[in-house]
Amino acid sequence: MENNPWERARAQMHAAASHLSLPPAFIERMEKPDHVIEVSMHVPMDDGRTEVFHGYRVQHNNLRGPYKGGLRYHPKVDMDEVKALAFWMTVKNAVIDVPFGGGKGGITVDPKKLSEGELERLTRAFARELAPYIGPEIDVPAPDVNTTPKIMSWIRDEYGKAVGKDTPAVVTGKPVGAGGSEGRTEATGLGGFYALMEIVRLSGRGHSGLKAAIQGFGNVGSFLAGYMKEAGFRVVALSDSKGGLYIPKGIDDLKAVAECKERSGTLAGCYCVGSVCDLSNMELLGGRDISPKEVLTLPVDIVAPSALENAITKENAAAIQAGIVLEMANGPTTLEADEILRKKGAMVIPDILANAGGVAVSYFEWYQNMHGETWKKQDVFAKLKEKIDAAARAVFAASEEYSVSLREAAYIVALKRLSDAAY
Ligand code: NAD
Repeated sequence: MENNPWERARAQMHAAASHLSLPPAFIERMEKPDHVIEVSMHVPMDDGRTEVFHGYRVQHNNLRGPYKGGLRYHPKVDMDEVKALAFWMTVKNAVIDVPFGGGKGGITVDPKKLSEGELERLTRAFARELAPYIGPEIDVPAPDVNTTPKIMSWIRDEYGKAVGKDTPAVVTGKPVGAGGSEGRTEATGLGGFYALMEIVRLSGRGHSGLKAAIQGFGNVGSFLAGYMKEAGFRVVALSDSKGGLYIPKGIDDLKAVAECKERSGTLAGCYCVGSVCDLSNMELLGGRDISPKEVLTLPVDIVAPSALENAITKENAAAIQAGIVLEMANGPTTLEADEILRKKGAMVIPDILANAGGVAVSYFEWYQNMHGETWKKQDVFAKLKEKIDAAARAVFAASEEYSVSLREAAYIVALKRLSDAAY
């Protein structure tokens, strides 16, 4: 149970629903996805064999607009995970107030084991299977774990062939210059930063000098770190799947660290002084190596799990010292861990608010495609800030009104908006 994301999603919804008098039929509707699509794809491999892959698309709910959510390529993708992620998209899109419902999909595959050609053939086969069920006003997929702008372009192309018309708005997260939006790459990290700033402001705290540790230094974690540092936070620890570094006085040059990780394939050892990033600088900087998990339990003010699900569990929640947990990954905290954090008085800024910047800019991309517009990056960022600030204020107000955690408050905001759309 602890790690089953679908069971967790249901429990989170029921906890929030207990504060509202919602029609039972509405709750039942939220518990059951509208459509569950499961497909098999027979893909010719480079060595002449044909391999069979399984793919999923769950269209959870379209009360507020077309189904919207990413496609994940990962060996652990299964129906329960996709169902939970689709449900969270319905809730997240209502919290951030974009006119979309929720959907999610994926293929059970380790894409790192495929050649580029195999990956393209698999994606195109998946797009042909999904073509009857998706479309700009029906269901709009996007990238998620291990899916890229290039993969979105293949889907757009294959969908265009299936319907006889190039249709850029069928997917978001496309390359900029091929129908993608400026600012999509930065959007999730920047949105998390805006959410953090607004919640810190609303709770009457200052932010300057607060120490932060970030787990995961990919797209989301690296942009978040950069924006936090620029605003005066002290980013003291970073980790990726192989290891990490902790420099209590703060990591000075995040750009150099990112370049070092890019060069060496890992963060471990990226102690940078000037242009030299090397273990030999560790002592000079007063730093030390840490494990990917230890990053969460350091003496800091903020931890931001920005890697995968189930990072904070009943095993490590009690050891978390930070007063603020900024959930940048989807579902990083298990139910039991959430309860431990609540009892400790930690403030959790929930994933459905913290990482909603990605889907907000996906909405902007879809909107630009639908209206033949191209927005400048600074306009995208300004609109993103507006959306995140409004969502953070609504969530914070609900947490005060109902005396509940920010997570429960976010669910309350979403359930009210969804039931308003239903009745
Ligand atoms: P990414 O693949 O770019 O980066 C993931 C990072 O996590 C990598 O640095 C990887 O090394 C690290 N990692 C993996 N396992 C780890 C572990 N056990 N411990 C520490 N680090 C580990 O992915 P991303 O796009 O940055 O997404 C990160 C999370 O944010 C995911 O949960 C994703 O679903 C969520 N998210 C992403 C977006 C988006 O727009 N990219 C939007 C919403 C939510």
